[in-house]
Amino acid sequence: MNHHTPCLPVVGAHTRVPLINGGSTTYANLDCAASAPALVAVQERVNQVLPLYASVHRGAGYLSQVSTALYEAARTSIGQHVGARADDVTIITRHTTDSLNLLAGCIPTNPDGTPGKVLVLDIEHHANLLPWQAASGGATVITAATTIRETLTQLRAELARDNYTLVAATGASNVTGEALPITELVDIAHAAGARIVIDAAQLVPHRGFSLTTSGADYVVFSGHKTYAPFGAGALVGRRDWLDAGHPYLAGGGAVHNVTLTTITWAPAPARHEAGSPNVIGAVALAAACEALGNLPAGELERHENVLRTRLVEGLSAIEGVRILRLWEDSCDPVGVVSFTVAQCDPGLVAAYLSAEHGIGVRDGRFCAHPLLTRLGVENGAIRASVGVGTTVDEVERLIAAVTQWVEQGS
Ligand code: PLP
Repeated sequence: MNHHTPCLPVVGAHTRVPLINGGSTTYANLDCAASAPALVAVQERVNQVLPLYASVHRGAGYLSQVSTALYEAARTSIGQHVGARADDVTIITRHTTDSLNLLAGCIPTNPDGTPGKVLVLDIEHHANLLPWQAASGGATVITAATTIRETLTQLRAELARDNYTLVAATGASNVTGEALPITELVDIAHAAGARIVIDAAQLVPHRGFSLTTSGADYVVFSGHKTYAPFGAGALVGRRDWLDAGHPYLAGGGAVHNVTLTTITWAPAPARHEAGSPNVIGAVALAAACEALGNLPAGELERHENVLRTRLVEGLSAIEGVRILRLWEDSCDPVGVVSFTVAQCDPGLVAAYLSAEHGIGVRDGRFCAHPLLTRLGVENGAIRASVGVGTTVDEVERLIAAVTQWVEQGS
């Protein structure tokens, strides 16, 4: 395949945007890690089902039956995409943040009645940090070492020192794109009697992931980062905690029976999906999962590796540019690269890239304040992230624009 072309077509790939000089250019969307553009396949599926949707689960009409079937088929597809085991549950949520908050409410107490504790690294997105800190058992946050090896040793030691119910780990960093060795993390957590949840918000859009193969207990991800529109995400994993946990939302659809003095809650997934569900969002996410799953093996990784390699090589060659990294040892990074430009405010650089070059990046602290502080970039950084629709030309435009910024002396 020619890597100058997208790996899968996305909607809005040729959108023109205004430039500050009065002209216009084709938008270069290098902000896929924040929200990735929808796939054309997703748009087509949504167009097909939009005329069909009606109230799910409780409606007797024909379209209600069709919608219920579509919603439940989407659930199956989403679960299959992340290698759900036969007895795993797939809960349709709003996004990764929702999924992690839901799971945080389902952590069981220890046999001695004390609330279960969570172990987490300081490299996490706030979505995979704050829910655990707010949960009844709280969380211990470990400062990661500069190598994966040493970090795994630290995790092992902490799990041996104290009693943890859950380890929460990112699959790939939303700041540096660097991946974590999931099967090793799973083994470490399980050897200590803890379960593990993988925050795959930045992994599932870029790499295949399987609960069955990795042995992880739970996985969470977001539709809007996985080439589907906003509003649907997923929590997939072991049934027992989810069946026993406090219902995430109280309301219709989550119950078997209600009297004025009693409530009989349904098991998962209904237990945590009170209210009218996001049928179109689930169908869109399933369509994205199916399109990604239908790519030839290794194609997604190959496409992104070409783009990431060129991004890192091009940006590193520019004077004053520092690429942020977590690990000194090797990993399998996804297409997310954050960098700083010496003596430059990241917000100004990002505004320049947009106004003068029509390039969309993200700047700031990427909802990972503890990590950016530890990396010594309290003022934030600039993040360029690619996806299935990104071309090498777009990456070259970014490299040329940052070079021009530096050469012009900002
Ligand atoms: N986890 C990671 C690694 C992320 O990158 C993000 C979003 O950037 C989230 C969690 C939160 O995702 P959402 O905003 O879709 O809930």
